[in-house]
Amino acid sequence: MTHQARISTVVESLTKAPRSIQLSDRNGKVQPITEVYGKNVFSLNEMSKMLPKPVFKSFMNQLRGNESLDRQTADAIAHAVKVWAIERGATHFTHWFQPITDSTAEKHDSFLTLKSSYINGFEEVTALETFSGSQLLQSEPDASSFPSGGMRTTFEARGYTVWDTKSPMFIQDGPHGTSILYIPSVFISYNGEALDEKSVLLRSVEVVNKAALDVLSLIDAVDEDHPRTKQVFTTLGTEQEYFLIDRGLYTLRPDLKITGRTLVGGLPPRHQQLEDHYFGKIPTRVLAAISECEHELAKLGVPIKTRHNEVAPAQFEVAPIFEEAMLAVDHNLLTMDVLHRVAHRHKLKVLFHEKPFRGVNGSGKHCNWSLSTDQGDNLLDPSSKPETNYRFLIFLVAVLKAVLDHGDLLRAGIASASNDHRLGAHEAPPGIISVFLGSQLNEVLNAIEEGRPVNYDATGTKLEHVRVKGTVLDLKVATLPSIARDLTDRNRTSPFAFTGNKFEFRAVGSKQSVSFPVSLLNSAVASSLLEIKEALIAQKGSKPVASTEDQLAVIREFIKKTKNIRFEGDNYSEEWAQEAAKRSLPNITKSPEAFSRLLLSKNADMLQRMGVFSSAELNSRFHILTERYCKDIMIEAQTLITMIVQQVLPAAYSYRGELADTASKVSSLGLDANPESRILKGLSSVVTNLQDRTDELEALTSKMTTIMEIEELAKFASDQVIPTMEAVREAADSLEKTVADKFWPLPRYTELFLNI
Ligand code: ADP
Ligand code: MG
Repeated sequence: MTHQARISTVVESLTKAPRSIQLSDRNGKVQPITEVYGKNVFSLNEMSKMLPKPVFKSFMNQLRGNESLDRQTADAIAHAVKVWAIERGATHFTHWFQPITDSTAEKHDSFLTLKSSYINGFEEVTALETFSGSQLLQSEPDASSFPSGGMRTTFEARGYTVWDTKSPMFIQDGPHGTSILYIPSVFISYNGEALDEKSVLLRSVEVVNKAALDVLSLIDAVDEDHPRTKQVFTTLGTEQEYFLIDRGLYTLRPDLKITGRTLVGGLPPRHQQLEDHYFGKIPTRVLAAISECEHELAKLGVPIKTRHNEVAPAQFEVAPIFEEAMLAVDHNLLTMDVLHRVAHRHKLKVLFHEKPFRGVNGSGKHCNWSLSTDQGDNLLDPSSKPETNYRFLIFLVAVLKAVLDHGDLLRAGIASASNDHRLGAHEAPPGIISVFLGSQLNEVLNAIEEGRPVNYDATGTKLEHVRVKGTVLDLKVATLPSIARDLTDRNRTSPFAFTGNKFEFRAVGSKQSVSFPVSLLNSAVASSLLEIKEALIAQKGSKPVASTEDQLAVIREFIKKTKNIRFEGDNYSEEWAQEAAKRSLPNITKSPEAFSRLLLSKNADMLQRMGVFSSAELNSRFHILTERYCKDIMIEAQTLITMIVQQVLPAAYSYRGELADTASKVSSLGLDANPESRILKGLSSVVTNLQDRTDELEALTSKMTTIMEIEELAKFASDQVIPTMEAVREAADSLEKTVADKFWPLPRYTELFLNI
């Protein structure tokens, strides 16, 4: 009986001992993280040790953008990395890239080469291990098998992976004690169009760098103590949320296996309402898995800092120390990959889906984002020095303007069939994009706008605190107040919140690559920085740099322009939806609408003007995302139908059969069979309803195969298929409550949540 499989797996899951690995030496001494960290990375440090000086110098020049990589340098690096990797057990190398699938791709090639020689006229073949500069620089996977949104067709399938020299190479464990050399790469078409996430991110980082430098050159006085900023970096820290469940139970849920989320299943009486899971004690089996994962990641130079329980049962979070955006994205993808693999070893399954379980919180990936200079200054750090506050405020209003003008574009960047279940589900930021600043900063902007001193009572800031910091409050003399970092409060409901010295884009989905949303954000900020640059130029007139008065005038102008995007209240409330409508802020609840915003001229023009997306690339992106959405829903609908037909209905039939038998036996003895018949009747009507709804869903999926136009299909899936899936689920969940437990084949939420 199928329920027996369920019960025995539940029991087994409760009694599994945590897997243990040895992280200490023979004397029981644990290796410090500093010795492990970056061990498997071919870092600049490693390169400088292994490469002849001129080669290393030439590589550094290439990194700074001053030179292109010549053949000899590439050959020398290839040789050095081959020696380094083979010493560490590498048998293969792979160009590791990021197609538009939210995950990574790799094709392994061995170092094997054959060399022929002739001995007395007989061919002798010798095996060699080789790796050349050209193999390092580029390889050519078949581009037609990756999503390209129509940019590549099978007959012109040429695509190239090209080594991204800015990301270091590394080795990862392969089978049987071997390892594989990973070469981080971009993936582009024969004509140089981006076929991946990374090339676009690299472009966006470059445009925001340029625009920020332009602005800084107008506001920063340069002298001996303050050298000119030469580079502005995008910094990124990704807080990754995920669920961990027992792998045995997971295998009994076709919906989780195929779609990543449960398509049926009701909430247990106890889930997250006691609020006892967040920051609770991490279960032993989970901690064993997480710490093994952290150990692996440390070797790869991924700086994991924090681990904790999240709000929902069986939900956790891992967060790194922030890094430059490109590296942070590589590292987030590695984190997901390593978590996935290590969980396997612990007989656990990690779920990255944004909403694996209905009724409890879903998972996000908060993108902590800022800009910092090559002098080590964070441009969004208010600092306690009033004289640098002008710069801070200029960058702050630039972000406000970016979100005001392109909030719908940011919404498009996080849209997917899976994230739709989370956004607006009263636990995650809604489909309205607004910015939260915190009461203090909000008051500071209001004061500047109105040309009055800051009212510290209105900010909730204790005046003593301000005095201790020695702040001068009088804005009339154009001295701005200090803004202490620890005084910005929190608003968990905001999709885009200022958190002390960075913005936190909180609506990003847990499953997605953050490349795309960060590229869109960078582009929008670059565009608004260029607007600010124009305003500063106009304001300063013939002076070489803008005076503090000029800067304050521009700041004030942009505060006025961007008022509508600021919201400090409860983003989940109905009043906000109404207020946002009054402010003409879009409320985009569904993905198809979000995707269409990519092609809206104000957004498309900006992305093209910034040089981050060409028109062809943007169209292709629109197609890839929309198509993916339709496919996801089709797969879910078909999985649901199969589960209903093969598992849920048969369980109900068995129970019905047993009840009917019992009822007739009971009445044949002349007894009252009402108790049985009452249940039987109720059950029968639900079963009939479930059959009808499932037939409807079946008809809708057939209809889907006949709709050729992709936008129409997405709309159909969203408007017709999803609500019908919901109706099917209602009926199935009601059966889960009534059918006798001994017939129920699917592990329940209670069992999935509590068995680790
Ligand atoms: P919280 O979100 O609870 O305030 P933290 O302050 O530790 O937690 O920050 C969360 C994430 O933000 C971490 O990954 C951290 O490294 C990252 N972060 C901190 N400062 C910056 C910054 N300047 N740029 C980008 N990310 C940052
Ligand atoms: Mg945070």
